Amino acid sequence: MQVALAVMAAQAILSSTPHHSLLPISFNPTISTATYSSSLPYTSSFHGLSLKATTARPYLSLSASASPKPIAIVASASKKAVAVLKGTSNVEGVVTLNQEADGPTTVKVRVTGLTPGKHGFHLHEFGDTTNGCISTGAHFNPNGLTHGAPEDEVRHAGDLGNIVADTNGVAEATIVDNQIPLSGPNSVVGRAFVVHELEDDLGKGGHELSLSTGNAGGRLACGMCLFIWRSLWFICIYIFIIVHFHMHT
Ligand SMILES: [Zn+2]
Repeated sequence: MQVALAVMAAQAILSSTPHHSLLPISFNPTISTATYSSSLPYTSSFHGLSLKATTARPYLSLSASASPKPIAIVASASKKAVAVLKGTSNVEGVVTLNQEADGPTTVKVRVTGLTPGKHGFHLHEFGDTTNGCISTGAHFNPNGLTHGAPEDEVRHAGDLGNIVADTNGVAEATIVDNQIPLSGPNSVVGRAFVVHELEDDLGKGGHELSLSTGNAGGRLACGMCLFIWRSLWFICIYIFIIVHFHMHT
């Protein structure tokens, strides 16, 4: 029922906000897992329809016997996330991420308290910082490849190269990358960014650790990546469901 309500809410909201972009909704008469009906005026348009929300694709799919042809309703699919980096030293920072639809992710980094020069900057496998930055595990590597540079074909997905600190110890960078989406099986959400003590040799330094860590040394600061925003309509659906349940309980 909750899934049906969410889908219903999505249709209600999207049909009232036609200027959004990029949320395809298709109608298919053969798919059905839940049925919803209501006497409330604002939900009566769903009476008798069979609805299904699929989790296999990054958008909603509605079924309706009255409309066999697929239609497209567009909605904003902007996604945002943030990670606050902390460590045992005075190194700290903030990482903000932004992804439009299925496009590349833009990562904005600002880290302070560093020694001047290059520092390896990676996405690590786990968001777990209970034992400090060491518990974030290895570089995020869903494809089982060796360490490399961000522009290399053979690299860990989490290999984001180096950030460069100025004479004041401040490093600011904007990274655009295709391997760290904010949703799906390789989502960065729930994983951790780590800034390292040394320069990442990008897998080319010849050190025994070059092909695993870039020989970037200790972990100065780290923080789990948290999802903060998945476009306005997603929040509207949530509010709609809460209000709906309050009205019926
Ligand atoms: Zn790596």
